[in-house]
Amino acid sequence: MSIPTKVHDYSTFLQCPYNASHRILESRFQTHLVKCRQQYKGEQKETCAFNHTHIVNKSELEHHLKTCVDRKHFERSIQEPEKPISHPPPEFKPLPDGEDWDVDVQAYNPAEYATKAPVLRSLQGASKAVRKQFRNDERKRLRQLKSNGSE
Ligand SMILES: [Zn+2]
Ligand SMILES: [Zn+2]
Repeated sequence: MSIPTKVHDYSTFLQCPYNASHRILESRFQTHLVKCRQQYKGEQKETCAFNHTHIVNKSELEHHLKTCVDRKHFERSIQEPEKPISHPPPEFKPLPDGEDWDVDVQAYNPAEYATKAPVLRSLQGASKAVRKQFRNDERKRLRQLKSNGSE
């Protein structure tokens, strides 16, 4: 284990990952590692969990994971997701024929149903221009319903 050991208020000693008897000033730790690493060239290599381009000796991995610069990004992305998780509104499912409408009479909203139901509505007694506009709007609405449903 290479838990930093506070020896004095102003200096921190770290344990060498290659040799537990090596105690190195934190400020000299990287320099020591470079030297000490050469004596352990046969070390198995491990990949940093925060950045796959960091290949470190197995003995150094634990220390590296504690000090890795990419760890901050990693932790930030977990704690503060860029997009808040949004809950899409529940899908509207028209009740199939034969369903007992009385059961759910409180929740039934005819206007809402007519707006969302995937059927072509028609206008009775409206002028030709209004009917045409209405049909266009209806086609648009149905296309949107279709594309929403295909997701
Ligand atoms: Zn060492
Ligand atoms: Zn790393």
